[in-house]
Amino acid sequence: MPHNVPPLVAGNWKMNGARENLAEVALIRDAVAKGGAGRAEVLICPPATLLMAAAGICEGFLLKLGGQDCHAEPFGAFTGDISAGMLKDAGATYVILGHSERRAGHRETSETVRLKAMAALHAGLTAIICVGETIGERHAGEALAVVRTQLSGSIPENAPPGRIVVAYEPVWAIGTGLTPGQNEIAGMHCFIREKINEHLPGQGAALRILYGGSVKPENAAELLSAHDVDGALVGGASLNSVAFMEIAAFYR
Ligand code: PEP
Repeated sequence: MPHNVPPLVAGNWKMNGARENLAEVALIRDAVAKGGAGRAEVLICPPATLLMAAAGICEGFLLKLGGQDCHAEPFGAFTGDISAGMLKDAGATYVILGHSERRAGHRETSETVRLKAMAALHAGLTAIICVGETIGERHAGEALAVVRTQLSGSIPENAPPGRIVVAYEPVWAIGTGLTPGQNEIAGMHCFIREKINEHLPGQGAALRILYGGSVKPENAAELLSAHDVDGALVGGASLNSVAFMEIAAFYR
């Protein structure tokens, strides 16, 4: 990873958080402003209901904000959905796409994710595209094939440099406390970089590949020091400013 591309520590709040939790955003904002994450970029993806208020809190500060999903269309009769442009308008600069909870719970295919990513890029957002195998796929020796298919199906071929981030999140590690070993993470990240170089020629070296799945303050140093890891996508531990900043402090 070239030195001008900072690592990224991203928090995914999922369907958690009400206005009272904006105090956590302010604490993370201040910790980042004081250098608590070193040269890493720090991002919080709150539920859409909190995005505008969080943007007000973060205005003029380094802490970035993102959405957790977007629709592939810019506007229209899609009750309950939010477009990439709306996220941008509310203060987001990133959006998480293809999270395993959406691939499984909302039956999102890689093609759906690709169309959403195109919409996100068009709106000026950076897309964090999630990939990862289930426990069954892992036991069947299919992890690499699954991730390869997700990558080639989900990432738009004309993505501008720096505007795609890949998050490798083994589904069996999300919210379970289980994590792969350092060598397994390094192997998968190296494989992802190789595939990105085929899919987006020349972009592999500068593309950030995050590890996600039960990242906690206690295991952050081990997981983030695995070869080829450029940051983390953090779920549960990102709801607490202290725990989240202890993770981000790896880059201090
Ligand atoms: C996630 O949902 O992206 C995630 C990694 O969750 P957790 O850190 O809670 O495993």
